[in-house]
Amino acid sequence: MPNRSERSKKTKFRRVAGGKSKRIFVRGKTGKHKCALCKNVLHGVPHGKTSAEVGKLSKTKRRPTALFAGVLCSKCRHLVVMEAAQVEAKAKKFDEVELRLQNYVKQVKVK
Ligand SMILES: [Zn+2]
Repeated sequence: MPNRSERSKKTKFRRVAGGKSKRIFVRGKTGKHKCALCKNVLHGVPHGKTSAEVGKLSKTKRRPTALFAGVLCSKCRHLVVMEAAQVEAKAKKFDEVELRLQNYVKQVKVK
């Protein structure tokens, strides 16, 4: 009987010298990255790779070069930038911005 923790792990069999097969544990692929606000799948971000494998990629393969790339989707980025522009132009007060957007709007103002 395998260990209790080994029961639910995904296994594969590898041939070893002597014609025997050895059981190995296989890690699953990592999930796709999601938008921090709307939870939609992000584009241009690697998936199915561990953080160590992602670290070996070139910078441009890790994330697109845009504001909040790898964090927000393009729709949410547009929403945040529009809110930030309204706050900057004093057409809207910062307190009137949606609470879930406030943290991102603050970051846009700094830049
Ligand atoms: Zn989104």
